[in-house]
Parts: sequence; structure tokens; C-alpha cells
Amino acid sequence: MRLLVLSDIHANLEAMEACLAALPAHDVLVNLGDVVGYNASPNEVCERVRAMGSSIVRGNHDRACSGLTDMAEFNLIAAMSAQWTQTVLAPENLAWLRALPRGPLRSGELAGIEFVHGSPRDEDEYLLGASAAAANLRMPGHADTIFFGHTHLQGGFAYGDGRIRPITPVFPTDEGIVEFTLPLAQRERYLINPGSIGQPRDGDWRAAFALYEREGDAPAQVTFYRVPYDVAETQRRITSAGLPERLATRLKLGR
Ligand code: ZN
Repeated sequence: MRLLVLSDIHANLEAMEACLAALPAHDVLVNLGDVVGYNASPNEVCERVRAMGSSIVRGNHDRACSGLTDMAEFNLIAAMSAQWTQTVLAPENLAWLRALPRGPLRSGELAGIEFVHGSPRDEDEYLLGASAAAANLRMPGHADTIFFGHTHLQGGFAYGDGRIRPITPVFPTDEGIVEFTLPLAQRERYLINPGSIGQPRDGDWRAAFALYEREGDAPAQVTFYRVPYDVAETQRRITSAGLPERLATRLKLGR
């Protein structure tokens, strides 16, 4: 079984198209939310995500940009982009965003795996540190492998023998399409972030996603990918939409 996990596309059409062209073969596709917000192609990205027909959980930007929640938790720049997104979204995309389900999401064919935007206990929690990750991984009633987004940091946390350790992909080069494979130990529990397609914040500007593979009784593994894209075109669209310049400059910094 090959499960592809995408997250935090954030209306970045060029990053999404580059990833679509580079996707490895897969049987199942799951999207961890934040389809829109920040970048300037919300309708184009909504249409592509809807056409892919994947399972999806909603993100905080999906809620704010479709008017489901206010922007009290957003900084000024995020709020400006959410407001702009709300005004340009086509009615059918607004309705689709409003109807997205809250995580955690489970699917019958994916036993032992769960999908959330923020964390298992709170769809808006940022899983940035070991203590928050451990608290979530110690919660009973959740799957052993949990995919999460929201932080835009590719990697995650492993928990075993009472200890938690961070997972940090290491790539051979800063250029081109790269991948890093992590074998999963059967007695450990995992919180895995595929990274953000549309606005990475881990210092690598390339679009990020992940592939989970499991065959029979063999140990599962996760492969993290980074894919370069036409970031100059994304920046041009942000500028011509009149969105804050900071949203364009941060993309190339990966921050
Ligand atoms: Zn996000």
C-alpha cells in the first residue's frame, strides 16, 4: 500500500503543479488541509485539489478564508491574505472549503493511520516541540502513525521506550528533486509531517510532501520529498494581486 500525503498547499499553484508532475506512484491520497491562504491562486488550487478526489481534513486557513471562523488568531499579514482570498474565491470553492471535515480522519483501508491538521487533540495546535508531541502520542485511542501538518516543518517525532525523538529529513543536495527514506520501527509510534507544498518554513524553499509504504508484514517506511518549482512566478502573482510583499519574499527563504 502506497499512501501519498500532501499538506499546506496554500494557494501556491506553481508549487502544486511541480509536485503533481513529480508524484511517485500511489494507491491512496490524503490531504492535511490549508488548501488556501497566503498565496495568490486559491481558485486554481481548489479546483486541482477537488479534481484529485483525495480524502482531506480542513485547516485553520480553510476555515478563515471561507468565513467559518474569524481571524482573531491571525497576524496582520495572514488576515490580509485571508480577507483577499475570501473576496476572490468562486462560490463553489467557498462552499467546498466550508464543508471540509475536521480531523482526526481515519479510513478503513488504512488501519493504524490517522490524519490531522494540527494535532490529534486540537486541530489548531502547533506541534513544534517534543513535550507537545509526547502528550499527543501518549493519548489513548489514537493510531500508531499520525500524519499532521500546520507547522510547515517537514519531519516530525518518533516515540518509543518512553522517549521521544525528532525526525529531521537529511537531503543530499539543495538542488533538484530529492528524497529521504525513514524506516518505521514496529513498536514505535509516530507523528509525521509531510511538510508544506506552498509555504515551507524549515529553511528549504522547495515544495514538500511524503509517501508512506507498507507491504504485508514488512516494516513500513516514509519517504520525504522536496521539489523545486517556479517560485519567481508565484512571487509575481502575489505582487500583482496586491498581497503583502513579505508573502513573496518569504517563499524563497523557506521561512
Ligand atoms: Zn498552513
